[in-house]
Amino acid sequence: MSGVIRVTVWNEYEVERIEPEARAAYPRGIHEEIAAGLRGWLGDRVAVRTATLDQPEHGLPLPVLGATDVLVWWGHMAHEDVSDAVVARVHARVLAGMGLIVLHSGHLSKVFVTLMGTSCNLRWREREDRELVWTVDPSHPIAHGVPHPIVIERHEMYSEFFDIPRPDELVFVSSFSGGEVLRSGCCFRRGKGRIFYFSPGHETFPVYAQPGVQRVLANAIEWAHSPEPSLLVLTASLESPIGWFRGQGGS
Ligand code: ZN
Repeated sequence: MSGVIRVTVWNEYEVERIEPEARAAYPRGIHEEIAAGLRGWLGDRVAVRTATLDQPEHGLPLPVLGATDVLVWWGHMAHEDVSDAVVARVHARVLAGMGLIVLHSGHLSKVFVTLMGTSCNLRWREREDRELVWTVDPSHPIAHGVPHPIVIERHEMYSEFFDIPRPDELVFVSSFSGGEVLRSGCCFRRGKGRIFYFSPGHETFPVYAQPGVQRVLANAIEWAHSPEPSLLVLTASLESPIGWFRGQGGS
């Protein structure tokens, strides 16, 4: 199994159980659709498991997170039900090198807002806009092989101003039939962790079944994976008396 990227796809898995339109778009749940897409594109390069909000510790106990190289996060209506302890655990794992892919309405998840440090709010309109996802950095690994543009015939509109820190790398910008635009594919680095936010994925449209979208997510898994994760230990005291470095190779 060495070299295999261990992926956990997390979904709150609420809206598909209560809204008929969402259940019709994702009868197995959004997490299973995303997981199937990743297995289809990445094959034996990944080992994909899923986790949901209703499981003990939301399916993310320390042994699971400790064995996760990249975590995918989809949430919508139950952000506040995610325990602060689990948020802190995910946060610490990202700083230590775990990759994180935050999708669609996950922009308001506690995990993402905590890592960004801003409100992460944006404009939205739940109608049937046509979304075009334009690649603005064709040399970026997440854009490799992705249609230019990805055409999503019917989708929820998300637009600027999107209150995030300036992305470390911007890969996609979306335009909508209403005329709005959004920075829809954004990369961030926090500690040793790589974070990618990708906006497509409203629950009532089967966006995650589209090959172009699946390709983005597969590329993002490979980009966010850190081949040599190393835990930062910053909890010990770093108080430094004068000359502390002598005898440690310094002079
Ligand atoms: Zn939505």
